[in-house]
Amino acid sequence: MADRMSVLFDASKCTACQACSIACKQWNSLPAEKTTLTSSYQTHQTFTPQTWTFITFKEVWANNKMEWLFFKKQCMHCAEAACLKACNHDAISHTDKGFVVIDHEKCIGCGYCVTNCTFNVPRIHPKTNKAYKCTGCPERVSNGLKPACVQTCQPEALVYGTRDEIMAMAKNRLEKIKPLHPQAVLYDAPKLEGVNFTYILLREPEFYQLPNDPAVPVSVDIWKDFIRPFGGLAIAGAVLATTVGFIKTRGQTTEHDYASPKGKEVGKDE
Ligand code: SF4
Ligand code: SF4
Ligand code: SF4
Repeated sequence: MADRMSVLFDASKCTACQACSIACKQWNSLPAEKTTLTSSYQTHQTFTPQTWTFITFKEVWANNKMEWLFFKKQCMHCAEAACLKACNHDAISHTDKGFVVIDHEKCIGCGYCVTNCTFNVPRIHPKTNKAYKCTGCPERVSNGLKPACVQTCQPEALVYGTRDEIMAMAKNRLEKIKPLHPQAVLYDAPKLEGVNFTYILLREPEFYQLPNDPAVPVSVDIWKDFIRPFGGLAIAGAVLATTVGFIKTRGQTTEHDYASPKGKEVGKDE
């Protein structure tokens, strides 16, 4: 993927203004949804077919001061994408920029991508029976624009660039903020060959409910790399074997059926 692009979310710069969520809704014509008032400023608690990104708020009391820790959630656009591997209808693919998109013409709403997503992202719309999630704004990036959420982010907590630029930027930034945020880490999921939404986190991944070292489940790999490609052959083999067996058995049965009375006649010879 020569043109692989990425987004960096830098938690040390995010102010939780939530402009990114609104920009996503606006660009993708997604309607607003009712939220529940809780004791937190966090509005959305989870993804829906019409909410593809939102900010989580966590409050931590440490060293006699309150710290607010923010995190932007959306599809991570995994290079090794479990959703893509699990989809039996080739409805999920990578764009030439490396973002993961769902083709709604092909999607049948089976929910395999939902069940197998490493980060619990896609959601099935009950009316259309199709899976939905962040697209990475392909119609923008293919025209040289930034994704809508990145475009709107004023403190530059979201940055868009080539994969190499983003990784270099993330490593430099991490080094810079370490004295102030000693627990900060770079989150890029190497077992997924990287995620195209890369993060600088201010705490360990588990604090944000992220898997520490995510990988595509072995069962999904076996399904995609072995059962699907060879499944057709295996089924054809099984049908052939059954047919041959049936003919053979039928042949034997036929002989036996006719042989039996004959046998009795022949039995005279016994
Ligand atoms: S627009 Fe930027 S600063 Fe505001 S919540 Fe989103 S990522 Fe954070
Ligand atoms: S986060 Fe989930 S939906 Fe997004 S690419 Fe990865 S596996 Fe697929
Ligand atoms: S990349 Fe586009 S679709 Fe994805 S969260 Fe940002 S604005 Fe929404």
